Amino acid sequence: MSAKILNGKLLAQNLENALKKEVASLKKETGCVPHLVNVMVGDHHGACAYAKSQKKAAEHISIQYELEALQEDVTQEHFRQCIKRLNDDESVNGIMIHKPVPQHIEYHAVAKYVDTDKDLEGINVTNIGKMLLGETRIIPCTPASVMEHIKSTGIDLYGKEAVIVGHSVIVGKPLSLLLLEQFATVTVCHIATSEAGQLEAHVRRADIVVVAVGKPSVIKGDWIKKGAVVIDVGINQVNDKIVGDVEFEAACKNAAFITPVPGGVGPVTVTMLMRNGVEAFKAQMRKKGKL
Ligand code: NDP
Repeated sequence: MSAKILNGKLLAQNLENALKKEVASLKKETGCVPHLVNVMVGDHHGACAYAKSQKKAAEHISIQYELEALQEDVTQEHFRQCIKRLNDDESVNGIMIHKPVPQHIEYHAVAKYVDTDKDLEGINVTNIGKMLLGETRIIPCTPASVMEHIKSTGIDLYGKEAVIVGHSVIVGKPLSLLLLEQFATVTVCHIATSEAGQLEAHVRRADIVVVAVGKPSVIKGDWIKKGAVVIDVGINQVNDKIVGDVEFEAACKNAAFITPVPGGVGPVTVTMLMRNGVEAFKAQMRKKGKL
C-alpha cells in the first residue's frame, strides 16, 4: 500500500476560504470583523515565521491581525499590564502569547492573564474545562488541526483504536478529549511507555496514530498497521531538513493516510487559530446583542 498524503496546505486553504465567507457575512451583520493580537517578546526567528503565517492567513480571511511587540527584558508586571490593556480594549476580540517567551517570564503565569473570552489558543483553564464538558468551540489549535486532518480522510472514529504518542498540555492531553468525544478508544503513550518497552506494541494495533514527541524517527515505519491513519505533529531539524517524528517513507508503505512534515499539521494549526478568533468574535457579538 502507498499512503495517500494529507495535504495540509490545501486543507488550510479550503478551511480558510470557508472562514473568509463567514467573516464577510459577519461583517454585514455586525459592521466589524474579528480583531486579533499576537503578543510577542523579542524577535525569535521561529516565532517570526509562525507570526508571518498567521498574518498571511488573517489577510486571506480578512481578519484584522496585529503584533504587539514587547522588549526582550520586559518584566512580568509589564507583561500583565499589556494583557490587561488588551483585555479591556473592546475592539480586541482575541489575544495570543507567542512562544517561546524569555526565561525570566513564566509562560503559564502570563497566559492566565488573558481573558477567557479572548483566549485565541484555547489553553485558558476555563476553556480547557469547557472543552471537557463540550461547551466551547474555542479548542487548542494543534489538536483541532489533527482532528481536521482525520475528518478529511472521511474515516469514522467510532470504535477505532486511536493511539497518541506524547501527553503534553498543548497537544496530547486535549487531543485525547477530542478523540474520546468521537467515541474512539484512546490510548495515550509517553516517555514511561517507551521506557517500559511498550510503545511499539501500542502503535502496532492503532487504526489512528498521532505522534507529538519532537524526536525524529521515534516511530518506526514498519510499526504502522496496514490501512492506518498517521498524523505526525513533530517538527525536527535534521541537518538542513525539517522532518517529523515518524519514519515517513517506511510508514507510507503501510498507512492508508499520512501527513507530511512540513506541510501537514502546521498550516492547519494556523487556520485553527483564525477559526478560534472567529468563534471568540461571534461569542462577544452575541453577548453585546449584535448577533
Ligand atoms: P513536549 O516536549 O511538551 O511533549 C513531548 C511529549 O513526548 C511528552 O509527553 C514526552 O513525555 C513524550 N516523549 C518524549 N520522548 C518520548 C519517547 N521516546 N517515547 C514516547 N513519548 C516520548 O512537546 P510538544 O507537545 O510541545 O511538541 C511535540 C512536537 O510537536 C515538537 O516537535 C513540536 O515542535 C511539535 N509541534 C508542532 C505543532 C504544529 O502545529 N505542527 C504545534 C505544537 C508542537 P514526557 O513528558 O513524559 O517526557
